Amino acid sequence: MESVELERYARHILLKEIGGSGQIKISNTKITMIGVGGLGSVALYYLVASGVGKIKIVDEDIVSLSNLQRQILFKDSDLGKKKVLAARKNLLELNPNVEICVVDESFSMNNSSKIIAGSDLILDGTDNFETKALICREAYRHRIPSVYGGLSQWEGQVCIFDPNLSSVCFDCIYPNKPNQDVEENCADLGIIGPTVGVIGSLMAGETIKWITSSGKPLVDQILTYDCLQGDFQKFQVEKRKDCPVCS
Ligand SMILES: [Zn+2]
Repeated sequence: MESVELERYARHILLKEIGGSGQIKISNTKITMIGVGGLGSVALYYLVASGVGKIKIVDEDIVSLSNLQRQILFKDSDLGKKKVLAARKNLLELNPNVEICVVDESFSMNNSSKIIAGSDLILDGTDNFETKALICREAYRHRIPSVYGGLSQWEGQVCIFDPNLSSVCFDCIYPNKPNQDVEENCADLGIIGPTVGVIGSLMAGETIKWITSSGKPLVDQILTYDCLQGDFQKFQVEKRKDCPVCS
């Protein structure tokens, strides 16, 4: 590792769980972030600052004014720009030593294999049920772990689905699609910015733990945060015997 890298990542390298070898693992990891919204903003900021070497970001939206209340990767001057391009520019200003490849498309059945093939880990920063279910299904098909984050108003949740550990998957937890009214309401009911920051940050933390095999991953467990109550809770989740995705 070069001396500038030793200095940049010194506070990581001091941690006994990471050290120099862990930092090298971080710089050799390829992640794919699907959705560059609120969760992606925060997770990407920390992962790029942490030196994750190869990052693919996937989103087809443009930056709009109502994004800026929580999508802290974007600035007022980014309004109207493609999210993936604005994100890459701002992230490379933070750390020019990482590679960021952009996919200006929404994640779908048609492009899923092309997008996730070759990734070590996938992060789900999307905001709708169908895409979340598709990400997990495709990740299991390719045997790639995925870090899931979900948000609703003041609350959020995070966990890891890991096919290589035979863990529960998104379908185990949410076997049924909510009806259209519920899903539309979730988009319309609002979201508090700092909860997005907490959950995005937890996703980045789980990613670094997974890369460096540090601590205990949130596998078969879901961690929830309720900003209104100031409360974190962790629940054990059971695998569904007849799950079409993971069993
Ligand atoms: Zn399952």
